[in-house]
Amino acid sequence: MCMPSEQVVPERVGAILSRLIACLPAERPVALHEPEITSGDRKAVDACLASGWISSAGPQIARLEEALCEVTGLPHALATVNGTSALHLALLGGGIGPDDEVLAPALTFVGTVNPIRFQGAWPHFVDCEDSTLGVDPDRLSTYLDQIADLRPEGCFNRLTGRRIVALIVVHVLGIPARMPQLQAIARRWKLLLIEDAAEALGSRLDGRHVGHWGDLTILSFNGNKIISAGGGGALLCQDEALAQRARHLGTTAKQPHAWAFEHDQVGYNYRMPNLNAALGLSQLARLSEYLDAKVRLHRHYNAAVADLPDVRLHQPPADRQSNHWLTLLRVPPELRDPLLAAAHAEQLQLRPFWTPMHRLPMYRDCPRDALPVTEALFESGLCLPSSPRLAP
Ligand SMILES: *Cc1c(COP(=O)(O)O)cnc(C)c1O
Repeated sequence: MCMPSEQVVPERVGAILSRLIACLPAERPVALHEPEITSGDRKAVDACLASGWISSAGPQIARLEEALCEVTGLPHALATVNGTSALHLALLGGGIGPDDEVLAPALTFVGTVNPIRFQGAWPHFVDCEDSTLGVDPDRLSTYLDQIADLRPEGCFNRLTGRRIVALIVVHVLGIPARMPQLQAIARRWKLLLIEDAAEALGSRLDGRHVGHWGDLTILSFNGNKIISAGGGGALLCQDEALAQRARHLGTTAKQPHAWAFEHDQVGYNYRMPNLNAALGLSQLARLSEYLDAKVRLHRHYNAAVADLPDVRLHQPPADRQSNHWLTLLRVPPELRDPLLAAAHAEQLQLRPFWTPMHRLPMYRDCPRDALPVTEALFESGLCLPSSPRLAP
């Protein structure tokens, strides 16, 4: 017999929720993603406090930058106050200015897009793909053929008349986007390529850490990322001149001198404090441990929901290595909000995707492609609690 769907929804939600509860520890609340603070972290922070070097100079900053170069295989790193400031420096260093357009995914955290407006430039939203959750290179290529002209001075949007100068790609939830294809598009259209790897420390593609395809790459060490410095971020790149320009602009554009304060342009105070670097460095030493834990947690969830008819766990494509920052459950749209409500009543912090950027009031009128995959992912995606400590 066929029942009206309103009566069926609570049962379907209950079936999913009981599987999730069975996966998780009994203590409540269960956060979406929380940092783990060890006694080693406390010692590192205490030692930094005892040294007196707590602010924007100190040895831990350079050590963290070196360690990030080692982990990523990239030659230059600059530690910043957060991921957003790193992205702002990437745009500054890349010369993006007023009335430029920057291609960016609509499915991302707002921190990807705000720095474009800091520069007086305009975000131009493009769609993502269902498999990697990142910018869809096939769709982007078709779209640029439709709306853009390649002139000697660069790429121009035929509809707005503005120059399109850059493409920001996000490794969503830690899954590497299709970088070789996206890099080829950026080269063909003369676009600066920026990788927003805020969620993707430890993620790899074709044997390399993410960040090797972009001209510039950013990381975040916010409290909910895979490792945290209490706050903080980093800008990474291959090109030495670009790295120096970004470092200069992020250090109040101060010219090096033993005592004189000479600044040659308007600069920013974006350097990470040594106190945060001490914590970040201590946490970074546990990255591989966390990567292992997150694979185990992903498998654990997968086994728990595998036979449920309504849901499936999102699997990163097998040809790339995600850090599994957040595990994503795909649910029928009509179950998303009821499941969120039921989970929050149990103090389990499930979370939907970010409201897509083109739906936010300040970005509503920005140029964009059709965004069907972004909309579908927003309607059907739920991020599950993914702290490393939850791994079996
Ligand atoms: C966290 C995040 C940022 C910003 O990082 P903050 O350190 O919070 O400024 C940018 N982009 C994405 C995709 C993020 O997840």
